[in-house]
Amino acid sequence: MHSCRRAFLSIGFATSRSGVLMTSAAVRPRVRFAPSPTGSLHVGGARTALFNWLYARKYDGVFLLRVEDTDRARSTDESTRAIFDGLTWLGLTWDEDVVYQGANSARHYADAHRLLENGSAYRDFTPPSEIDRLRAEAEARGDAFKFDRSMAELSERDLADKLASSAPYAIRFRVPDGVTEWNDLVHERIAFPNKDIEDFIILRSDGTPVYNLAVVSDDIDMRITMVMRGDDHISNTPKQILLYQALGAPLPQFAHVPMILGADGKKLSKRHGATAVGDYQYLGLLPGAMLNFLALLGWSPGSDLEVMQLPELIERFDTDGLHKKAAVFDTKKLEWMNGQHLALVPLEELAPVVAPALVRAGYIRADELNARHTWYVGLLDLLRVRSRTIDDIVRQAAPYFHETVEYDPEAVSKQWRDAESASKILAATRARLGALDSWELAGMEESLRALADELGISGGKIFQPLRVALVGLTVSPGIFEVLQYIGRERSLRRLDAAVAYLAT
Ligand code: GLU
Repeated sequence: MHSCRRAFLSIGFATSRSGVLMTSAAVRPRVRFAPSPTGSLHVGGARTALFNWLYARKYDGVFLLRVEDTDRARSTDESTRAIFDGLTWLGLTWDEDVVYQGANSARHYADAHRLLENGSAYRDFTPPSEIDRLRAEAEARGDAFKFDRSMAELSERDLADKLASSAPYAIRFRVPDGVTEWNDLVHERIAFPNKDIEDFIILRSDGTPVYNLAVVSDDIDMRITMVMRGDDHISNTPKQILLYQALGAPLPQFAHVPMILGADGKKLSKRHGATAVGDYQYLGLLPGAMLNFLALLGWSPGSDLEVMQLPELIERFDTDGLHKKAAVFDTKKLEWMNGQHLALVPLEELAPVVAPALVRAGYIRADELNARHTWYVGLLDLLRVRSRTIDDIVRQAAPYFHETVEYDPEAVSKQWRDAESASKILAATRARLGALDSWELAGMEESLRALADELGISGGKIFQPLRVALVGLTVSPGIFEVLQYIGRERSLRRLDAAVAYLAT
């Protein structure tokens, strides 16, 4: 068991046993999702957001959103909006005001100067062009370039002169000797010898902070207790730890979650199809299914259990179940997961999710659908079992909303191959159903089974051609339910139309 969990459990026990009311601020975990708004919310980001959110919900913590918009050239408002939209669609709402990193540049600047004052950093007047030249030289020799601190060393007099002449300088962190290590909640002990870390810039000569400083300064200010993010950030972590230490701030815990790969084992990218969460929103996925699927990208509950709704995810989620190995994004599994959730969610929850899709498809107006709520919910229950996506439901729903159906050529050639006999059976079916006083399941079934007996054929020989007449396809919910949901008059008209079609 990882230390964080132990810490929480013991805090919980101590509180209840002693009966002392601790201020919740002392123990409440604070986690954050810190996207850079340079594109849409992609699957990997949403997964990282979800893990943090689940952790916060599980431990009565606080989930924060920080938009890392310091890269002005690449950050866009459109992307920020897409991130908000994606998170909102998934229900991953944040608990405090959004923090915009770019708005904190004065603090970043002040923190860099604090490090300068306490000796943890120094001014580097070396022109960037000189550093570029040295780097190119080292690379030409096949060496890795590492900034040599002695290059920045100036006598007091030279320093005073430079400052007096307002020469531009960057602020570099003075990496101390030793080893920087931490107990990662996923990877356990990770250690970096400090000699491998160069004295990195924390503030550029134009006064803008470098990524690692901005992140640490913000995480300290936001009182983040655990940093959970993609393992592509592992190499930043030692630098960040050194900054925490130099700023005299307590370290958060770190959990580095695995990357997500496409089915071909390559890093997930556009080549693998839709990777933006917003795309899935419009592909007819349920947010609950997407969350369940995302949760399993790099985490498992310690059993074979896969289909989980949100309360169960919250209950079972823990950093113990996080994987070290990269996860594979499998769209087939996502579809399967969605099918599972379609069958699982309460109908009253599903109804408002599917309704806009039916309206968008032009089947019906929202107010008309509201007026037929009971009918609609019943239909949804029939259709969802054969559907993997909301789009599947919409497709299957067409015959119940439209006056006419389109016949699928395959269904026609399979069930109406012998047009004459199909036409006869359909006409007889039409006559029987038309003679019924009520449009009830039992009565319809009884009369059509009696017809089959009279014609000396199996029920299927009646139901299959009838199905094509009603929905145009060879598959549908039970035929009597179909009749019921299409309704008496429309079903009879459809039978007439089928007979007429077969006569041509
Ligand atoms: N903005 C960084 C990213 O999008 C995340 C930084 C962090 O989580 O510390 O990769």
